Amino acid sequence: METVVSITDVSKSYHSGHNNIEVLKNVSLDVEKGEFIVIMGASGSGKSTLLNLLGLLDMPDKGKIHLFNEYLTKELSLKERNDLRLRRIGIISQSFNLIPFLTAIENVQLPARIAEDLDKQMDQAKRLLQQVGLKGRFHHKPLKLSYGEQQRVAIARSLINRPDLVLADEPTGNLDSRTSIEIISLMKDLCVSQKTTFIVATHDPNVSSQADRSFYLEDGNLVEISDE
Ligand code: ADP
Ligand code: MG
Repeated sequence: METVVSITDVSKSYHSGHNNIEVLKNVSLDVEKGEFIVIMGASGSGKSTLLNLLGLLDMPDKGKIHLFNEYLTKELSLKERNDLRLRRIGIISQSFNLIPFLTAIENVQLPARIAEDLDKQMDQAKRLLQQVGLKGRFHHKPLKLSYGEQQRVAIARSLINRPDLVLADEPTGNLDSRTSIEIISLMKDLCVSQKTTFIVATHDPNVSSQADRSFYLEDGNLVEISDE
């Protein structure tokens, strides 16, 4: 077993005006390589907060996050965090965040260009777009693609640097239920075939059927949902 994510007693609050909202309270979770983890919870329960901490976009107030068995995130500089995210973490969001003036293949290539891993990036981008079922759409710009296709491009882009961990924040939030099911099974296939670890935040109950383990965030606590 190889632990990809280890969260220990993590707390996170936000302060707005005189209010202090404690979003995460002593949350702990270990995720092994190749697991497909689903985090459910009502809107506002802290799912994005947790994924942002794992994606090194924010830091916990308290507790520890180890990634890839070696990095204690609070010991990393901003540059080291950005670098680690770029090379080893793929991020998929609800709103796709594609660059509108770039074609599908250019969007997929972008993180590889930033990482300056130029060799074979074109082949790799083509291979990924084929893998997500967009063989005929390499040169389409996002507005010429359906929502489901845009999300497939975003998935391909998240995988271009061969991440060890993919964080997906409500990836089916803007999709109809049929397309949602396709997108989730696509992510699940990639998880199984490449042993990529996925952590998916959602309040779509269809998604949890694909999970190796699912959790519920409520009142700042993360509770595992058992099969029974
Ligand atoms: P979810 O993704 O489950 O909908 P979030 O993690 O986005 O939940 O938000 C959890 C709570 O924290 C919400 O009440 C939200 O309003 C609050 N919150 C999120 N981000 C901030 C912020 N940057 N500043 C203040 N409050 C925030
Ligand atoms: Mg959210």
